Amino acid sequence: MNNVQHNLNHIRQVIDTTAQQCGRDPKTITLVAVSKTKPVTMIEQALHAGQVHFGENYVQEGVEKVIHFQSQDLVQRPVWHFIGPLQSNKTKLVAEHFDWIHTIDRLKIAQRLDAQRPQHKSPLNTLIQINISDEESKSGIEPKAMLDLAAEIVKLPHLKLRGLMAIPAAEKDADKQFAIFQEMHSLFLYLQQHYPDIDTLSMGMSDDMTSAIKAGSTMVRIGSAIFGERLKQA
Ligand SMILES: *Cc1c(COP(=O)(O)O)cnc(C)c1O
Repeated sequence: MNNVQHNLNHIRQVIDTTAQQCGRDPKTITLVAVSKTKPVTMIEQALHAGQVHFGENYVQEGVEKVIHFQSQDLVQRPVWHFIGPLQSNKTKLVAEHFDWIHTIDRLKIAQRLDAQRPQHKSPLNTLIQINISDEESKSGIEPKAMLDLAAEIVKLPHLKLRGLMAIPAAEKDADKQFAIFQEMHSLFLYLQQHYPDIDTLSMGMSDDMTSAIKAGSTMVRIGSAIFGERLKQA
């Protein structure tokens, strides 16, 4: 067994155990393997280990990987999540190649993706990114702006609003970290009251996935714990 497969098995075990500890069904938690900066050979290893969902941060790099795997004869087609910041001049590539976008924080970007989504594809699964730690430098909208943006996104026929995403600031104190994830979960439940279809709360990375799952995450985005540390800061 190679490292990627070994790490994937371990992460799946952590998800199962954590979910069981808090009385959740592990099947309600989707694992997105974040393959940014990592070669297609590693993605192949993950695919062979049954991994389906992959996350990429950089448009050009991500699109190259999507296209690479389109030409392969695979039992299970990978599902591609765009999880990086998105500028308006790159929306077309995301609309054409990805299955999910996690980082919507402006209506303008959502409208462009809607207009550019190819007709033959199913609607682009969309998450609103919330700036939950209120940091000036990070992307995401303030919680109080969430409902207005959601109301506009649900009008767009080629997007499907699925829920929320957050990248909380790194926090050493586990209780504080958990409290922030709980805040996100409350926002998620609040949005669900307005839009009962939404089903996805994307939060939790290599260092904080167990807190995120305990607080109600339905989608964890795991990079370094599967593929190893990244060289460039990303
Ligand atoms: C890089 C990245 C991840 C994965 O981070 P790890 O700490 O390597 O697990 C998850 N989400 C986003 C948005 C990222 O940019």
